[in-house]
Amino acid sequence: MPDSADAVLDGLDPEQRAVATALHGPVCVLAGAGTGKTRAITHRIAYGVRAGVLQPSTVLAVTFTARAAGEMRGRLRQLGAGGVQARTFHAAALRQLQYFWPRAIGGEMPRILERKVQLVAEAGARSRIRLDRSELRDVTGEIEWCKVTQTVPEDYPAVAAKTSRDVPRDPAEVARIYATYEQLKRDRGLIDFEDVLLLTVGVLQDRPDVADTVRSQYQHFVVDEYQDVSPLQQRLLELWLGGRGNLCVVGDASQTIYSFTGATPDFLLGFRTRHPDATVVKLVRDYRSTPQVVGLANGLLSQARGHAAAHRLELVSQRESGPDPAYTEYPDEPAEAEGAARRIRDLIDSGVRPSEIAVLYRINAQSEVYEQALADAGVPYQLRGAERFFERPEVREAGMLLRGAARAAADPGEERETIPQQVRAVLSSRGWASEPPAGSGAVRDRWESLAALVRLSEDFTAARPGAELSDFVTELDERANAQHAPTVEGVTLASLHAAKGLEWDAVFLVGLTEGTLPITHAKTDEQVEEERRLLYVGVTRARLHLSLSWALSRSPGGRGGRRPSRFMDGLRPGSAPRGARRGAGGQGGVERGSGGRSKRRGPVLCRVCGRTLSEAGEIKLMRCEDCPSDLDEALYDRLRGWRMEQAKALGQPAY
Ligand code: ATP
Ligand code: MG
Repeated sequence: MPDSADAVLDGLDPEQRAVATALHGPVCVLAGAGTGKTRAITHRIAYGVRAGVLQPSTVLAVTFTARAAGEMRGRLRQLGAGGVQARTFHAAALRQLQYFWPRAIGGEMPRILERKVQLVAEAGARSRIRLDRSELRDVTGEIEWCKVTQTVPEDYPAVAAKTSRDVPRDPAEVARIYATYEQLKRDRGLIDFEDVLLLTVGVLQDRPDVADTVRSQYQHFVVDEYQDVSPLQQRLLELWLGGRGNLCVVGDASQTIYSFTGATPDFLLGFRTRHPDATVVKLVRDYRSTPQVVGLANGLLSQARGHAAAHRLELVSQRESGPDPAYTEYPDEPAEAEGAARRIRDLIDSGVRPSEIAVLYRINAQSEVYEQALADAGVPYQLRGAERFFERPEVREAGMLLRGAARAAADPGEERETIPQQVRAVLSSRGWASEPPAGSGAVRDRWESLAALVRLSEDFTAARPGAELSDFVTELDERANAQHAPTVEGVTLASLHAAKGLEWDAVFLVGLTEGTLPITHAKTDEQVEEERRLLYVGVTRARLHLSLSWALSRSPGGRGGRRPSRFMDGLRPGSAPRGARRGAGGQGGVERGSGGRSKRRGPVLCRVCGRTLSEAGEIKLMRCEDCPSDLDEALYDRLRGWRMEQAKALGQPAY
């Protein structure tokens, strides 16, 4: 821990210091990837707290994901500023709503709707509109979009026409389903995830007494990844502020990748207009990546259009020169995955830690072939957004038992064994022994999972000596939500969306073909630009090694026909700019794939659910007939992410 407030500023450059010491008034940091935005705001909070200017409990830091919130809380503790609230918009809103519900609305807070798609299906049936599976998901996504953009059913047809949205059905039909869905929720005493934000906004608007209480609690606001804030989140932020100016936002318009959820960089880009007195700081020094990686990122941005082009911030690497990015073309996906696994093995053998390596793809359904290839190569891995540890039945059961024990320990007559002792006692009551069972297999696996939980409790107690069992249970929920398994030291497999804000020494960007990145359903120029930004986010996750690859067909012996992503044109050394596409590979830093094997081993699995496929039609598609197609995956991911955030915010285990 730094020994003084000033020591918190050590290791910041002059512009970052300007951010960290601007403790009052509106502050806006516009900066590219890896320039230290998150670091600057974290140190700003810590500096303010250590200097005695900010009371920890009056600061609310808003991050985009639960994982980012957890990381910020951890970093703040290390800097001597524990006790600051770092949460997602949803988690912060839900806490406030739960607290104020009895006073502001009365009665019990409604339950959160868990099976939204089913309710939308029912609303469709009641409106006498038949929806097939993919329409159902699209209509569900459209209703979510309506809610975050505060579009009511009656206005939807006009809004849809004005914004030339890609609508899944006749807008009048969507509006009918949306209205029926809202009615069904009301009738059943349910609220959905978007309602949490809407209701919090409603309560703060209509109840000045509640708004006053919230405002006296929170006086300083910090928002990371502000380029992806939705109109509804912005409204909530304004209500929290209540006209006060103690707001610090950081963002990068070139990293806007959640437009499909209603997010917009307009609030970031219009900040100075809304706050003419704002301190505006630009950071351009890139501390994360080598000049080679930064050169590629700058090259990608130079081809961008729209707001990313208009507000482009050229990055300047502060790191030493590193290896050139590798571009590799493979005949088929298994060969691509094998090639990546081989290189990853080499990196690990040369001393790179597995946890410093990531494989990033456009949609989660792409992970299976990499899971198989890494397993074949004996490389440990973990899936972000689909982690297994907290989903294991024994871990879930232990979580529930600990929650019960924490409630019982809240009784003042109980609150005196250490947390690890209490955890051991709870597990022992279910037959867990501190010595491992002989042999291997399921019994041993179960024991290992629970032993990991005990170790986690020991680490937690060491880090937070005064903490109680209930704090540990909260920590478990946060980890479950953030997918931080305690035992896994592995290569990360994640979608590009899930990689936001993170960094690794080596990054493998895979599946860079037309139809995957940009994804098939990105049709308008705007949507294609968002896909380009997604690639920019991926490229800028790499500190040192960067690999970009694609495969010409999905399966061995396939007919090929896939083309490298248009984003590769003009990016690879020696390649022509967009429009003059040529065969891949062979020039400058370009490598060709090794050819790979021609026969795929083992059964063909569904890319979405992992089931072994037997039907010829399904094998051809590489997914079950009734699993969502690739096109639905972004929505699928989003629903899952939101469900998990909701579970976390409710203090429930995220499964
Ligand atoms: P992103 O846009 O991807 O969210 P960011 O702008 O938030 O990136 P950070 O994650 O804060 O960037 O920082 C990127 C990396 O650079 C981190 O490893 C961070 O520790 C390091 N870094 C930032 N500022 C400095 C500095 N002044 N000196 C040394 N390292 C720094
Ligand atoms: Mg960041």
